[in-house]
Amino acid sequence: MIASSLIKQFDVPGPRYTSYPTADRFYPDKEGLALQKGIEYRSHHPKALSLYIHIPFCDSVCYYCGCNKVVTKNHGMAVDYLQTLVKEIDAVVSLLDHGNVNDLKVAQLHLGVGSPTFLSDEQLAELISHLNYRFDWLESCEKSIEIDPRTMNKERFIHLKQLGFNRLSLGIQDFDPDVQLAIHRVQPYQSVVSMMRIARELSFDSINMDLIYGLPKQTKDSFFRTLTEVAALRPERIALYGYAHLPERFKPQRRIAIEDLPDAEQKCAMLENAVDYFMAQGYEYIGMDHFALPHDELARVKKVGQLHRNFQGYHTLKDCDLVGFGVSAISDIGNCYSQNLKNLTEYSAQAAAGKLPIEKGLVLTDEDILRREVIMSIMCQGKINIIEIEKRFLIDFKEHFSQALIRLKPFEREGLVTISPESIEVSEEGWFLIRPMAMAFDQYIWQDTDHRRFSKVL
Ligand code: SF4
Repeated sequence: MIASSLIKQFDVPGPRYTSYPTADRFYPDKEGLALQKGIEYRSHHPKALSLYIHIPFCDSVCYYCGCNKVVTKNHGMAVDYLQTLVKEIDAVVSLLDHGNVNDLKVAQLHLGVGSPTFLSDEQLAELISHLNYRFDWLESCEKSIEIDPRTMNKERFIHLKQLGFNRLSLGIQDFDPDVQLAIHRVQPYQSVVSMMRIARELSFDSINMDLIYGLPKQTKDSFFRTLTEVAALRPERIALYGYAHLPERFKPQRRIAIEDLPDAEQKCAMLENAVDYFMAQGYEYIGMDHFALPHDELARVKKVGQLHRNFQGYHTLKDCDLVGFGVSAISDIGNCYSQNLKNLTEYSAQAAAGKLPIEKGLVLTDEDILRREVIMSIMCQGKINIIEIEKRFLIDFKEHFSQALIRLKPFEREGLVTISPESIEVSEEGWFLIRPMAMAFDQYIWQDTDHRRFSKVL
């Protein structure tokens, strides 16, 4: 584990680089021109698809939440939303379908945030049935869904299995009762133990648990208890995020009393404990916030240098075009990004009218593509192969990235990275500061000195 003094020294707010350029660089694109350009590129460079479906509803609000969600008890809202989704899916499929056998082949499906299990079993079945009707599925397709354990019972797990889901992600955050009260998300440990037992009986391929450190009322000791309880359940993957308190941006966070938050010293100890403990329990450190058991696909792809990063974090499939459906969803197709409208009413009106419900987009320049390759190499492999980059992009790396190399110097001096004429390699300790190192290669972030919209490691 890295010394806490180094984390404090280099811990500046920065992007998580789920894309490059980052989403705050997208420009207005109501016509969806970037998406159309990406799809046109794809027609000559076909890849399997990764589908992301954004289900924005939650029954109640968690105070730490920074997601784009709608908190409501009115489950009728989901009926209208599903109808809108179907329209959007049909509109995008008609663009993707060029009559080639691989146009609509899907390698990965993910239903995500707020709570996809807000949908009833019938609604989920309806959505999956429409996707089955519109897309072709690779036999090895990974189908995952985010689960709010508070909405689940045995019958629901069986239903998810019958719908073809083979991966689950459970929002846990912390098992301590005081913390759960302070974040307005009460889900007792024993109920999650029962859920896990059912999920194991049904043989889901991989189960992920999300945890957060830095929450109100958390202490080093209380969080350590959560770590031991989580590790005892042996989820294949663990995502461990640092809580970023940004109440001016995220309204629910205003209900968190600032005096209840652990300070940077305590957060550092929690992170340190978590890394040491999970590794002692047989987990491998994947990068930034992720751990996986050695037999899990995420650990395997990391070993063979095939780890990938997209809007959902670290991923196993490198060579896919990502198509996002639903309010605020982002697509990444053929060197073009596009993002749907973030406002539910506007998104619904546009999609219901049969139009692409897009708000923003970005067509990558050649320079963006080069820098994306470099940033994703460092984020996913902890390594940049300078010779390969020079050959592929016909550049003199040292000259092209002279500023970035200067920015990396302080990290090099502390042994967090090694720079040679052939490669740049992040040390084991350096992995904990991968974000500020990746920032060195970001062309845009240095044009603007106010990085407060981003979070920090601690
Ligand atoms: S954390 Fe998840 S379940 Fe809680 S309010 Fe946010 S999106 Fe909904």
